[in-house]
Amino acid sequence: MALHQTKDTHARDDGTDVFASVLSGQVLPKYRIPDDHSPAEVVYSLLHNELLLDGNAAQNLATFCTTWSDDAVHRLMNECLDKNMIDKDEYPQTAEIEARCVNILADLWNAPPGHVGTGCSTTGSSEAAMLGGLALKWRWRERRRAEGKPADRPNLVCGPVQICWEKFARYFDVELRQVPLEPGATGLRPHQLAGYVDENTIGVVAILGVTYTCDYEPVAEIAAALDRIQAEHGWDVPVHVDAASGGFVAPFLHPETVWDFRLPRVASVNTSGHKYGLAPLGVGWIVWRTADLLPAQLVFDVDYLGGDMPTFALNFSRPGGEVIAQYYLFLRLGRGGYRRVQQACADTARYLAAEIEGMGPFTLLYDGQGALPAVSYTLTDPAAAGFTLYDLSDRLRMRGWQVPSYPLPADRQDTVVQRVLIRHGVTRDQAALLVDDLRRAVEHLTATPQPVPATAPRSGFHH
Ligand SMILES: *Cc1c(COP(=O)(O)O)cnc(C)c1O
Repeated sequence: MALHQTKDTHARDDGTDVFASVLSGQVLPKYRIPDDHSPAEVVYSLLHNELLLDGNAAQNLATFCTTWSDDAVHRLMNECLDKNMIDKDEYPQTAEIEARCVNILADLWNAPPGHVGTGCSTTGSSEAAMLGGLALKWRWRERRRAEGKPADRPNLVCGPVQICWEKFARYFDVELRQVPLEPGATGLRPHQLAGYVDENTIGVVAILGVTYTCDYEPVAEIAAALDRIQAEHGWDVPVHVDAASGGFVAPFLHPETVWDFRLPRVASVNTSGHKYGLAPLGVGWIVWRTADLLPAQLVFDVDYLGGDMPTFALNFSRPGGEVIAQYYLFLRLGRGGYRRVQQACADTARYLAAEIEGMGPFTLLYDGQGALPAVSYTLTDPAAAGFTLYDLSDRLRMRGWQVPSYPLPADRQDTVVQRVLIRHGVTRDQAALLVDDLRRAVEHLTATPQPVPATAPRSGFHH
């Protein structure tokens, strides 16, 4: 029987084992689109294998972001693959669900009753921070102009903020006045504000869940300090709360902590839906206390079912699935479900903190209680330990664990810390396995003295 010949070299791949295919016998093209197509299953398998080099997201204890989603979230994400968040006209129900989520968050954060929630979804807290910062800048400028005063030197006051606020300041021409950390402090302290706030301060950013230390900044005391500054100087400085992580933790685990719209000075709040909001990557939220705090000039109108739909965003096209998944999670878990998930994480963080403290060489900086479900610690005596936390991170990496080490921000940059985040999907058993590996790593590093630590800063992968 004559064998069927074809000119298409790839056709002989049909039905061939993936790893006997033409493409799998080659180094994949890296600089140029290949001349012709290849079978989908082969390309998929090769990329799947390459991506294994990324490591295992479930063992990434550096990230605050969601690494586990249930099957329904996967299905909804799949079904929403073609939904564009910006096309309010074509996908009115997705737009409606976004609005429901904004109202739910306004309620969760105790916005004054009787208002429709003012806010929107974003790609994450970073975009939300830009929008929140812009609203602060616009309002300050309007106020200054109305008073006939110069409005060309805006500043924003904050403690050890995430990089997004440095971006906001640089991109939108605002001076960032970052208050250095006091000895022993894990964030901005209210009494520091008087030295930094002035008539050109567009706002103060308070962080609910400081990236470096996982602690909450005392928002109520920060607001009270600003009350005193207003009484003395007349400057009415609003607070924006960066609740990227804490916005979905505090309402469930620390309802007595007053940090949200219960404080009249809190003008806006952002959060990352894809962190403790438990939604998949790609969604953040910003909510203003009342509609008047969002300057109308920042809002664009797009056609919406023959009417106007206001939008405030840096992006245009953006996927809708994450927003749908967020709403699914609200319905699926309810308040009780969120509380149980976050409590399970906090309990595991407490367990881990106790184990780490008992190990000997470490001093806890944050023990997982009272703020984010996380643990941060330092070497009690870095000079005598015989190893650095960077060595320890490297050693843990051999077992797949990604546990970051990094210096604290100014003025505590001499203190190097290690941080473990416990989030949805990290089990007690995994934490126990990590403890075993930590103990073995410490034993190994102590028995095998390390070369003099490199003076060059190492990469500190924290978020
Ligand atoms: C993660 C984080 C951000 C940035 O959030 P993304 O959702 O990753 O853009 C901003 N602020 C704080 C405090 C954070 O923890």
